[in-house]
Parts: sequence; C-alpha cells; structure tokens
Amino acid sequence: MARRKAKTGGNFRTALVHGKVFLRHDTGFDHPESAVRLQSMYAGIKNARLLSQVLSAAPRKTGKKWLLAAHDAEYVERFRRACKNGTRLFDHPDNVINRHSFDVALMAVGGVLTACDLVMRERVRNAFCMVRPPGHHAGRASALGFCFFNNVAVAALYLRKKWGLARVAVADIDVHHGSGTQQLFEEDPSVFYYSIHQHPSFTFPGTGREFERGRGPGTGFTLNSPMSPGSGDEDYVKALNRDLVPAMKSFKPDFFLVSTGFDAHKNDEMADMALTDCGYARVFGIIKNLADELCHGRLVSVLEGGYCLPCLSRLGPDHVRILLEQIP
Ligand SMILES: [Zn+2]
Repeated sequence: MARRKAKTGGNFRTALVHGKVFLRHDTGFDHPESAVRLQSMYAGIKNARLLSQVLSAAPRKTGKKWLLAAHDAEYVERFRRACKNGTRLFDHPDNVINRHSFDVALMAVGGVLTACDLVMRERVRNAFCMVRPPGHHAGRASALGFCFFNNVAVAALYLRKKWGLARVAVADIDVHHGSGTQQLFEEDPSVFYYSIHQHPSFTFPGTGREFERGRGPGTGFTLNSPMSPGSGDEDYVKALNRDLVPAMKSFKPDFFLVSTGFDAHKNDEMADMALTDCGYARVFGIIKNLADELCHGRLVSVLEGGYCLPCLSRLGPDHVRILLEQIP
C-alpha cells in the first residue's frame, strides 16, 4: 500500500501555535500586555487568508520537568500560589496576574515545546508561537517586564536535553534586552544568546551592553547589539550583518529560537525605535536565511513584546508569510 501523508500536517511548511487559552491571562484595563494584542494579530492573519496555509497547533501545558530546567521549584510554587490566592501583582508592579495566569503561562511554555517537537519531527520546517505571557525577562526565580516563565529558555533546554541538540541559537529582536534569557545562559556555551535592542537610554531593563559577552565557559556565547534610540531599518540590517551573521556562521547552531518582539516598530509607543513594516521583514529575513543556511531551516519564533495593535495586525501576517517564504 502506498504511504500517504496525513491529511493535516503532512504538507505544511509552517506551524502556528495559537489558542483562546492565552486570552485568559487578564491583565486588566489599560495594561499594554493585553489579550487584545493576540486578537489583533490573529485577525490580521485570518484576514490575510493565511490560516489555511499553516498547520494550526494547539498548545499543551508544559511538564514540570522541563519548566524546572530553567526555573526554581520554589519560584514556580510561589507563582502558582499567588494566582490561586487571587493576588493581583506578582514580584513587580508591571506583572499583573489573575487566577488563570499560572495555567496560561504553563501553556505558553508548552506551546513553544509543541512547536519544537513539530520541527524536530519534520512535520513542519518552522513555526510561529502566538503565545502570552511573554518570557524573555523572566529569570530563574524572578518575574519581570510582563514575563513569568521564560518560554524561549525552557525551549532551548528542551531542545538540548530532550532532542539532544548540541548547539541552540536564540536571536532576540524585541526592542528590550532579554535580561532573563541572557542571565540563564551566560555561563552556557551550548546556547548562544544574541540580542538587538534599544540602549543606552532610560530604556528598561538596562542590561545588554556590548561588553556583556557571557561568563566562565559561556564567554563568547552572548552577544549584544545595543542600538541608539531612533535607529531604523538600515541601522538594524547593518548591525545584524556586522554582529549576528558572522557569530552564527562561527557558532553553527542546530536550531534557531527567535524572541520576536514587535515593539521596535516606529509606531510602538513602548520604545523609541524606527523600524518600518518592511524593516521588520528584512530583519526577520536575515535570521530566517541563517536558519536555512546553517540548520536546515529549523526555526521557532516566539512572540515577546509589541503593543501597537494596528502594527500587530500587519506584522503578524507578514511574519507568517516570511516563514512560508511568500516574502523573499
Ligand atoms: Zn519588549
């Protein structure tokens, strides 16, 4: 009997991890990291008729084993209890929670692990995880900047330990430095953390300077491209070609994880950068080309920040089109 590919999943290049569960982390009126962000992005992707072109993947809750690879058990328990008890703020005034936040955060991590499995099993070549809460500021035992669990960091450790990959690259294009991710991997030569972000200025979180290059055995496996406020498309492309491209060609990753923040857009009020829609496509295109050249296109992009709702409704579909190779 001829082998037939499964009706769904057999022929898709790209997976999209999404689900209504992510709307249940309610941060209240007027909080920038709101459920509406995902709704705007989803509407944009739907209106662009892209949903039928991607493998829709439902998230799953991460198992404790993988979560604890990146986070302390006491921290996880403290967060669980805070949500259960109806606490409104956790660790920081920016980090608003509700009763569902713990479970939603487990789903965000698990959604990224699902995407990694789909890529590693060659069901798809790449994936975009439309998850929240975001993760790149979360440390081993600390919540910060709307982040609770470090989705990308857990995924990097999962790829190393579950799938046995030797080298994982994290490219962080959120306008803020991924303080949590850098800290988690600064002594680890198997996970290369690269970030391009606004700095120096009053910008949150204040880390990510050029001289931060990792520590101990991880020295040389952290790289930051701090960008002056007002930097635009050409500045970003230049910095990526100068810093990220040679570093990755030398590191030779087996897999790319991308912390995708859309808050460097010129219309995003969270920062002072000047990327256009086209600039975002070029920035992400450089990273995707590296994945194609260096690791068979294995790439999982994970949503971090981005707070301009009209921008998200355009940048979301653009992002999916790049993964589908509909934008060169
Ligand atoms: Zn950000």
